[in-house]
Amino acid sequence: MDAADFSTVLSEVRRFVRERVVPLEAEIDEKDEMPADIREAAKKMGLYGFALPEEYGGLGLSMYEEAQLMFELGYTTPSLRSMFGTNNGIAGHVLMVGGTEEQKAHWLPRIASGDVLASFALTEPEAGSDPSTLTTRAHRDDGGTSRSSAAESGGDWVINGAKRYITNAPLADVFMVFARTDPDAPRTRGISTFLVPAGTPGLTVAPKDHKMGQLGAWTADVYFDDVRVPADALVGGEEGLNRGFATAMGCLAHGRVHISALCVGMAERLVDESVEYARTRKQSGKLIGSFQLIQGLIADSMTDYYAGRATVLEAARGFDSGEDTKIGPSCTKYFASEMVWRVADRAVQIHGGAGYMRGVAVERFYRDARLFRIYEGTSQIQQVIIAKALLGEAARG
Ligand SMILES: Cc1cc2nc3c(=O)[nH]c(=O)nc-3n(C[C@H](O)[C@H](O)[C@H](O)COP(=O)(O)OP(=O)(O)OC[C@H]3O[C@@H](n4cnc5c(N)ncnc54)[C@H](O)[C@@H]3O)c2cc1C
Repeated sequence: MDAADFSTVLSEVRRFVRERVVPLEAEIDEKDEMPADIREAAKKMGLYGFALPEEYGGLGLSMYEEAQLMFELGYTTPSLRSMFGTNNGIAGHVLMVGGTEEQKAHWLPRIASGDVLASFALTEPEAGSDPSTLTTRAHRDDGGTSRSSAAESGGDWVINGAKRYITNAPLADVFMVFARTDPDAPRTRGISTFLVPAGTPGLTVAPKDHKMGQLGAWTADVYFDDVRVPADALVGGEEGLNRGFATAMGCLAHGRVHISALCVGMAERLVDESVEYARTRKQSGKLIGSFQLIQGLIADSMTDYYAGRATVLEAARGFDSGEDTKIGPSCTKYFASEMVWRVADRAVQIHGGAGYMRGVAVERFYRDARLFRIYEGTSQIQQVIIAKALLGEAARG
């Protein structure tokens, strides 16, 4: 996108976030629901497709631009970003990276406009940090139909299994489902991805989970009981590619830079909330901002925020150039998610008892921030990825 257009997008989003969404944050948290007019406004602004190519109706932002957009979106409840995060992120990317031209042409414009909400279904009850152990199974079956085309098309696929904590599942129109297609292949090599529309017989979405934070964004279990999809539901179209695991890992690397930028946006908000409170709250007849120990907490948070912003931009630059699509994304995800957690903790401390009370912004952000160290790879998994990439064979012992 050219620089002038991008700067318009950034300032529109900044205004939208600060003027329309920030005033609704407490209500979104309390009701665990995103107002319909916010969804519609996000669609109109192109936010369901900012990371998807312009030829498919997206904004076509680079990772570097996307990071700056996330700094703005992170300033408010992360449930705003969750509405369209899966469309742009891991679900949309699965198609961009692995889809056939027909699949891209059919799905991406509708995903980019927000007419179709896509969910990314990788995690399972027994396969979280290590998705290569997933047990959801897809096998070929022509269903005993007399269709002569069944043989030509290779027959339908039938999917069985269960997925856990799937973001946007209760609202999704289509699921990107990772399933084992070759049980005899090594664990990471026998997995494929399928496009499964919501409402396909046998697909059930459980009631939404009761989460600690990030309320307004919904997750749920998804069950597949003999879910039958046609041959062209296989992402990439060609049986035997079994590229699902590699595709998922590539998409997650993009997602890690994206989440890191969101953490930086939240850290900026937490610093602003901390400074505002320290400027107005008095103890012993003095503003708490005059106490050097409070000044120290604020300075530490600002330094953390500044460092987080710098690592995200550096990781985004390396991702765009192709120079580093592995260590950089993991380093920045690890640093930024731990960083915003420290900043949220200090913000609660600066607010004293008020920071522990519902209705106070930093209490909500404290709950919201906790998730960043868990999803898109826990902090421990980022450590493992970084160390393995550096140590190579030696990491295997
Ligand atoms: C709100 C929310 C939304 C989510 N959205 C999605 C989604 O849209 N799609 C999707 O597919 N998934 C989603 N997830 C799943 C998320 O990615 C997983 O929860 C996460 O990867 C951790 O997996 P787990 O919960 O099974 O924990 P586990 O893997 O069981 O981990 C438990 C603990 O063991 C540690 N651990 C595990 N393996 C290792 C190791 N090798 N070395 C060191 N420590 C290790 C972990 O760090 C953690 O501390 C979501 C999760 C949440 C909570």
